[in-house]
Amino acid sequence: MNVILLGPPGAGKGTQAKKIVESYSIPHISTGDMLRENINNSTPLGIKASSYMSKGELVPDELSITIIKDRLSRTDCSKGFLLDGYPRTIPQADALQMILTESDRKIDVVLNIEVYDEELIKRLSGRRMCKCGASYHMIFNPPENDEICDLCKGKLFQRDDDKEEAIRNRLTVYKKQTQPLIEYYTKKKLIRTINGGQDIPQIFKDIKKVLKEYD
Ligand code: ADP
Ligand code: ADP
Ligand code: ZN
Repeated sequence: MNVILLGPPGAGKGTQAKKIVESYSIPHISTGDMLRENINNSTPLGIKASSYMSKGELVPDELSITIIKDRLSRTDCSKGFLLDGYPRTIPQADALQMILTESDRKIDVVLNIEVYDEELIKRLSGRRMCKCGASYHMIFNPPENDEICDLCKGKLFQRDDDKEEAIRNRLTVYKKQTQPLIEYYTKKKLIRTINGGQDIPQIFKDIKKVLKEYD
C-alpha cells in the first residue's frame, strides 16, 4: 500500500503517520524529519536546507526530490510506504510519479487531512518535539511528565519554525505551493478527505476505515 498524507502544517500528519505505520508495517517517510536529520549532522544537504527551513520556506525542489528518490529506492519500501510532507509542490508530485513509474509502482491513495487555520496555529504553537521523532502538544497531547518524552525520556524542545513568525509564513506557503496538489490528485481520483478537526483517536479510526479499502 503506497499512501500520501497531505495537509497543512499542524494538521496532524506526523501524529497519524506514527499510528498508521505501526498498524500497517510500512515505513514512515517524512522529508521534514530527513531534512532535520541532515541539518543535525551538518551534511552538505542539511547546510543548504537550513536557512529555508528556519524561515518556514520550502527547500528547493531538487533537494527534496533527491532525498525522496534515494529513500524510495530502498528495499523496505517494496511492500509499501507512507509519505508525510512530500510532495509539497506540483513539480515534486510529477517527479514522484516518474520515480514510481520507473519501478512499476503507483500511489494508491492520498489522504487529505483538513483543519482550519485557527486550530493549526494553536497546534503548531503548542507543539513540542523529541529527538526520537515523537511529537506532543502541551495542552492537546501532553507527555506524562512535563517536557519529557514518554517513549525515550528525552527532553522535549520547540522547533525553530514553530515560532510565531515562521508559522504564519508556513501557512501562506502551504496555500500557495502545496494546496494546488488537492486538485492535482482529485483529477487523478486519488484524494480521500479526512476531517482533521477531531480528536487524535477518531481521526485514526476514520483513516483506518479508508485504508481498509486499499490494504
Ligand atoms: P504535522 O505533522 O501535520 O505538522 P503534527 O502531527 O506534528 O502535525 O501535529 C501538530 C501538533 O498538533 C502536535 O503538537 C500534535 O501533538 C498536535 N495534534 C495532532 N493531532 C491533533 C488533534 N487531532 N487534536 C489536537 N492536537 C493535535
Ligand atoms: P510540518 O510537520 O509542520 O508540516 P515538516 O516537518 O513536514 O513540517 O517540514 C518542515 C520544513 O521542512 C518545511 O517547512 C520545509 O522547509 C521543509 N520541507 C519538508 N518537506 C519538504 C518538501 N517536500 N519540499 C520542500 N521543503 C520541505
Ligand atoms: Zn523521545
